[in-house]
Amino acid sequence: ATKIRIGIVGYGNLGRGVESAIAQNADMELAGVFTRRDPAGVRPLGPDVPVRPLDAIGGFRDDIDVLILCGGSRSDLPQQGPALAAWFNTVDSFDNHARIPEYFQAVDQAARAGGNVAVISVGWDPGLFSLNRLFGEAVLPQGASYTFWGKGLSQGHSDAIRRVPGVKGAVQYTIPLDEAVERVRGGELPELSTREKHRRDCYVVLEEGADAAAVQEAIVTMPDYFADYDTAVNFIGEEQLRRDHAGMPHGGFVIRSGRTGEGAAQVMEYSLKLGSNPGFTSSVLLAYARAAFRLRQQGSAGAKTVFDVAPGLLSPRSAAALREELL
Ligand code: NAP
Repeated sequence: ATKIRIGIVGYGNLGRGVESAIAQNADMELAGVFTRRDPAGVRPLGPDVPVRPLDAIGGFRDDIDVLILCGGSRSDLPQQGPALAAWFNTVDSFDNHARIPEYFQAVDQAARAGGNVAVISVGWDPGLFSLNRLFGEAVLPQGASYTFWGKGLSQGHSDAIRRVPGVKGAVQYTIPLDEAVERVRGGELPELSTREKHRRDCYVVLEEGADAAAVQEAIVTMPDYFADYDTAVNFIGEEQLRRDHAGMPHGGFVIRSGRTGEGAAQVMEYSLKLGSNPGFTSSVLLAYARAAFRLRQQGSAGAKTVFDVAPGLLSPRSAAALREELL
């Protein structure tokens, strides 16, 4: 059978992750990487992978079945998502939850006009966690849903600390509080405040001569990011930051706790422990690229989310094989 030809747009953590993940999927091949930077300065992992300017992508419409958009959610995807869905089937990991409705509208319009399928907001949250929130609510209508994140590195919070004057480098870990998780698992249905669910641990390298107390105060009182949490600020050296905090672990739990009609307590839990957030997210993106390709073959067009894609379409196995071997 011919392979699904994948194009990568944007070569950062996710772009690299998608490239490595393609090698693990026998039904896919990499058609090329597209970047806004000078292609000569972008080095893919594979020696023979072509890197091309994003501006030239219009010339590759016959060479690519699905484009995986690996740009950032803040400023890359709002522009690239609709523009590229007009020309290609796409999959992206847009994760600005509050903006998903307007992003969906923009991509949907472009994808319909171009006759393409665009699966948006794929990954683990939004993505696999969203699906598990949906399963929980649909199966246990009487109950409560909980999402805990971590232990994991939060890129957005790390960036926020790096913008504090006097900070040279920093990482931030989000950590779920065991007591809260255990109460939820026990079926207690607690009402938990923001502070009761997670704490935040920061590792900060100071600029020379910076005032540690002032930096600490600026971090722990930062509205939206830290003020509503118990936040620990640890000052470390540059070497230690490089050595101990270069990985991008993440994960978490989605828990639905409720009671069925006869009064029995029921707890559903889905858990992820990820050694590399971008490595895992890229692998989810590829599974949905397979689904996007098949949906297009079936005549679908427009934007979709994980809620709209049948799970069987994610698997390389046929529907008949899935019934026989996995059901
Ligand atoms: P990233 O490494 O910062 O890359 C984002 C873009 O920046 C790349 O596509 C690349 O575009 C450009 N870039 C990368 N390295 C660069 C460099 N050295 N110099 C200049 N430009 C560079 O971001 P990421 O870690 O891949 O994450 C991308 C997005 O994925 C995040 O914004 C997040 O929203 C999303 N995400 C979603 C989930 C989920 O569960 N849904 C999970 C994780 C991440 P060009 O090649 O065009 O320059």
